[in-house]
Formats: sequence, C-alpha cells, structure tokens
Amino acid sequence: MALIIQKYGGTSVGDIQKIQQIAQQVIKAQQEGHAIVVVVSAMGGETNRLVSLSHEMAKIPDEREFAVAVATGEQVSMSLLAMHLIDRGVKARSYTGQQAQIITDSQYKKARIVDINISSIRKDLDDGIVVVVAGFQGTDAKGNITTLGRGGSDTTAVALAAALKADECQIYTDVAGVFTADPRVVPEARCLPEITFEEMLEMASLGAKVLQRRAVEFAGKYQVPLRVLSSFENSLGTLISFEEKKMEKPVVSGIAFNKNEAKLTVMGVPVIPGMASSIIGPISEANIDIDMIIQNMGQEGTTDFTFTVSRDEYPKALEILQDVAKTIKAHGVIGDQRIAKISLVGMGMRSHSGIASSMFHILGNEGINIQLIATSEIKISVVVDEKYLELGVRAIHAGFGLDKEPAEEFDPVLVDK
Ligand code: ASP
Ligand code: MG
Repeated sequence: MALIIQKYGGTSVGDIQKIQQIAQQVIKAQQEGHAIVVVVSAMGGETNRLVSLSHEMAKIPDEREFAVAVATGEQVSMSLLAMHLIDRGVKARSYTGQQAQIITDSQYKKARIVDINISSIRKDLDDGIVVVVAGFQGTDAKGNITTLGRGGSDTTAVALAAALKADECQIYTDVAGVFTADPRVVPEARCLPEITFEEMLEMASLGAKVLQRRAVEFAGKYQVPLRVLSSFENSLGTLISFEEKKMEKPVVSGIAFNKNEAKLTVMGVPVIPGMASSIIGPISEANIDIDMIIQNMGQEGTTDFTFTVSRDEYPKALEILQDVAKTIKAHGVIGDQRIAKISLVGMGMRSHSGIASSMFHILGNEGINIQLIATSEIKISVVVDEKYLELGVRAIHAGFGLDKEPAEEFDPVLVDK
C-alpha cells in the first residue's frame, strides 16, 4: 500500500461535475489499495474574486483580514469534495489549514510553512479515511489564519508529502504535464516525461507557471517524489526527478519566458567604489525584487548600470532611481517596460559548451536584438523587445530540436537564413 498525495488545482475543481469527476479518481486510487490525502485549491476564479472583493472594501486591505477572506475559497472546495465522497459511501474528512496543523510564520499573504503536526491526519489514514486538506492556508503560532502566496496549494501538497513521507505527490492540473515550452506559444511543444528538480526550479522561477516555485524548492529540500499530470487525461504526466536517477539527459530541456519584466538604466554613474550599493540599496529597502543586474567596466570615469524588476514595480523603482541619480550625480535614468525575458534551461549545459552561442545565433538569424544576457550553470536568459517574444521562443524551440524526442548527444543545427 502506498501513500499518495493528490493535489487538484482550481480548474480541476472548477464546478460540481468536475468535483464529482475527481472524486471518482480518488475512489479509484483508494480501491487500488492506496492511502490518499487530497489537497484542493479554490474553485477556478474564486481566489481572484475574493481578492477583488477585498480591494473594493479597502484600498490596502489589512493583511490579516485579507488572508481570512481569500482562504475561504479552499474551504468550500474541500468540504464539497468530502461530503460527496461520504455520500458515495467513502470514509472522508476535510481539514482546514488550521485543523491540519499546518504551522507557518506570520506573513499573512505569503507565509512560510515551519511545521506540520501530522498526528490526526495519520490517525485518519490508519483508519482508512480519505483526508481532504484545504490548500494555500495555514495558521501561525498565535492561531491567525495565513495564506501561502498565489499558487500556494502546490506547496501545501508538497509539504504534506514531505511530512507524511508519502510515496508520491501528484499535482493534477489542466495541462498534461511540464512542456518544453508553453504550448499556447509553441504548438509543437512536447510534454516532458521527466525533468530534473534543478531544471524545474529554474523553469518555475523563470516564469513557467505550472508549479509554484516554493513547492519545487520544498520538494528539492525533502526529496519529495513529485509528478505533474492532467486531471482529465489518462497519462503519466511529468516526473520531477533527482539528477542521479534520471536516465536520459538531454542537453536542453525547455524554454521559459516572462513578459512581466521592465528594465531600468542609470546612465553616467561615476566609477567610484560603493555606487552599486547606492543604487540597489534603496530599491531593496523598498522591497522591490531585482532580477538581472548588468554593469560594464567604466570608461572615462562613468558607466551605465542596468537592472530588471517586475513590471508592476516599475513606477516605484523609477521614482526611487530618479532621486538616487541626483544624489550620486549620475547623468540620468531611462527605462523600458516593453521587454520580455526568454530562458533556455538544461542540465546538459554544465558539460556542453556552445549552447549560448547557438541561442544567440538563432536569435540573430531572426533579426532579434538581445538587450541583456544572464547565465547560470543550467540556464541562459536573454532580454528582448516584448514584441519578439513569441518569435524568439518559437525559433529557439525549433533550433534546438525541442519538438523532437531527445537524442543522446544533440548538436543544434545552425542554418543561416
Ligand atoms: N487558490 C489559490 C490561488 O489561486 C491557491 C492555489 O490555487 O494554489 O492562488
Ligand atoms: Mg497552480
């Protein structure tokens, strides 16, 4: 008998028929002899509705109250599923985050799980009860309701899998698994049978929305066997594996992209020690997350300093920088909100050189100008004009043969146009 955590996202519990359909799936898994913990999201669109209601009530909703309001969505879907299971003669019991003793810190909107007291869930499972847990929520040490950030039900599922030492954590969603690129942009994209945890972490951080990044971090830390699969298709989905266990190792695995980016440049920054910190310091004090940072060697006493932030934080960052520029006697600030980041991810980059130059070649061939470049061991990111995003993603996808089954050693074909 295996212990399986099944997490169903908003579209999978989107209406009554869908909840009945996944109940069927839960019953089937139980009949196969498995112990099942189900984690549910709010019904599709519900969290957004609760967020807008809150913003109608207060310009900046009090965070404690906001968490209480948005956490209600999951409570509805968990109880509907549990009562339906009971109605069909299956022993089931639902738990809110608080009842499940998912203990978090007190950041109400984006809390981190610090502990889970699994004793009552464990007892229910021993008694053959299907345990249904509300995703996305927990409680702090003082008993306040907290939420885990948008997409946080994934993290609930992975954390429960880690705490209960589950045999597999299955994330059911509305797509077949993790794709080589978003199939809405690249119709030829393939569903990957397997991806390593490190690659998945990069993909999730770089803009692929299939899993919450924190859930992937958690899975990595506790070595949780994780699978992403479709709620309504019968397929194996994508297994997130740990490198040593992965059989085939393609050089590149996938492409992630992010449109929600903006770029800021401080021009004519004096080349003297301490300038980078004078620029970035006030930005991080304002809690604005910085993504890429580019600074060149200065010439004739000054240099330009560029970095990217998410688009919604652009106005705030620009305002701060204009003050900073005056203080440090830089020439001025320019910005661009019409940029997008494309990233190529793959474990094979560790051992293969030339991936970056192939990627740049492909983009050059399409007449796409690269504005910024950042690399890590297993990814290369470029910033391009937003209007070239789709073209760039498709060209890189085709150029690296991501639409085909991976060969053991793949060399991208560099055909000039
Ligand atoms: N319902 C929450 C959201 O929409 C959490 C989740 O679905 O994972 O962000
Ligand atoms: Mg999600």
